[in-house]
Amino acid sequence: MSNVGSDSMFPTTRQMCQQWDAQDPLAPVRSRFVLPDGMIYLDGNSLGPPTVDSAQALHDFATDQWAAHLIGGWRSDGWMDAPVRLGAAVAHYIGADADEVAVADSTTINLYKMVHAALRLRPDRRVLVAADEDFPTDTYVIDSIASQVGAVVRRCDPQSMASLDFSDVAAVVCSHVHFRTGVVNDLAGITAAAHAGGAVAVWDLSHSAGALAVTVNTDRVDLAVGCTYKYLNGGPGSPAYCFVARRHHADLSQPITGWLGHADPFAFEASYRPASGVQRLVTGTPSVASLVALERGLAATADVDIHQSRSKAVALTQLFIEVLQGNTSAGPSNSLLSLVSPGDPHKRGNHVSFAHPNAYAIVQALIARGVIGDFRAPDVMRFGFAPAYLRFVDAFDAATHLNEVLASNEWRHPQFQVRDAVT
Ligand SMILES: *Cc1c(COP(=O)(O)O)cnc(C)c1O
Repeated sequence: MSNVGSDSMFPTTRQMCQQWDAQDPLAPVRSRFVLPDGMIYLDGNSLGPPTVDSAQALHDFATDQWAAHLIGGWRSDGWMDAPVRLGAAVAHYIGADADEVAVADSTTINLYKMVHAALRLRPDRRVLVAADEDFPTDTYVIDSIASQVGAVVRRCDPQSMASLDFSDVAAVVCSHVHFRTGVVNDLAGITAAAHAGGAVAVWDLSHSAGALAVTVNTDRVDLAVGCTYKYLNGGPGSPAYCFVARRHHADLSQPITGWLGHADPFAFEASYRPASGVQRLVTGTPSVASLVALERGLAATADVDIHQSRSKAVALTQLFIEVLQGNTSAGPSNSLLSLVSPGDPHKRGNHVSFAHPNAYAIVQALIARGVIGDFRAPDVMRFGFAPAYLRFVDAFDAATHLNEVLASNEWRHPQFQVRDAVT
């Protein structure tokens, strides 16, 4: 239907939402995922759900590969090649060539590798430009590297980065979509500004890969990292990826020189020689069971057109906001609720955040109703809209629940005030 994805149009009643769902070309994709009955899952930006074949694939891995072949599985079952094989599958989601991505380690460790590598690509420069208020791991890792190598970190608002002078800067490091606010940063503009000054651009794509059209090669990104357990549905702790543009393959030197990034690991040589291409990004033994689940997660949305799914996500987030703002039959919301994410849907990713002084308790009350969002300190509630498995009725119902929780003060109940360590 022509209205799906259009910014100015949104369904104003639950019945209209059902009509949109009935005509949504992506609706059948939902059946590829396992979602608990009755739950509205708005946290796929933090941990995607399993696919219907994830459990079977993990079971088959344990019985038909691990138990049956034991150590032979490294060769016969493709375990050793999984980091580059799945790298090729991730490449599709970020606009990279198949041989420019490897899957290994966590995002934190990959960021460490890539920021170090970026500094080594510009050995005469000791300045890093980094986003202020970025995801904590990014901030901590960048600060640690700077102190290790004697570099200086210049923190600035990504909104002004595209007009910075990078002429003494080794690298800029920034998240494409901000984890708390959902702001989409100007990846192409900042990368171009970095290049104009001779700097390298390193992007964290954790909240954008699988959510928006990411085009690292068109935009001339140098290095990138990102999570696979968010919109790529790899499962809890599934390994992260690193992208290295081909023009840097020959010169790239990353600091964690493990044996599986060696040119000839089974020669057990006394000193390190890097493997060619992205194999040198691999450090140690791959997490095979996690990669098995990730392979299913990546396959689940590989045929989905990213522009179509992004349009649907824009419509879902807009609908959610409109219901909360009282622009639909569901009624008005609470004036203490303020939109943290950009109002312009093209400037926000696929998650929407609201601030409220009692955000923590409100999120708990929503979870008790089966609406799963999350809380991000100090006062933000965050709701992710993965278009592969969410329906328009889900966005409508979730916002209606939130309106009810606010109107009834249900969140004041003592059980919702107790803070868990994981939010
Ligand atoms: C989720 C996320 C991470 C997580 O890093 P891990 O090493 O997987 O824990 C890092 N950076 C950003 C921007 C994220 O959104």
